[in-house]
Amino acid sequence: TISLAVIDKLGHIAVGTSTNGATFKIPGRVGDGPIAGSSAYADTDVGACGATGDGDIMMRFLPCYQVIESMRLGMEPKLAAQDAIARIARKYPDFVGAIFAVNKNGVHAGACHGWTFQYSVRSPDMADVEVYTVIPEMAAE
Ligand code: ASP
Repeated sequence: TISLAVIDKLGHIAVGTSTNGATFKIPGRVGDGPIAGSSAYADTDVGACGATGDGDIMMRFLPCYQVIESMRLGMEPKLAAQDAIARIARKYPDFVGAIFAVNKNGVHAGACHGWTFQYSVRSPDMADVEVYTVIPEMAAE
């Protein structure tokens, strides 16, 4: 799965996601990719969120919608992402998944459970893409 978020010069925010279903390639399966709020969600007033992992579990929690609504209420991206992951992990301790979150100011963070997650960031003031590695935290387990 590839999820990506963009903030343009005017502050418009968009997010998109692919779905490969590589692990769960069942004919006719509708994964989490097409479910708004599950694998991706954005609101120009708030920020954007993308997710990857066990979509059949994650889609039950709309984690990206959760992240946007948490940030809307003032939560920092890191805490919002950790909280969304923790909500899933509480019910499904063995699930594997990750989330990135970015707010409208470009502050970004990730959270993951069951694996180490990497995401990339690029902005006009950066010379190149930077890759961030997110380690699963106890808070999300
Ligand atoms: N979330 C995707 C799915 O369940 C898989 C992935 O993120 O790689 O289809």
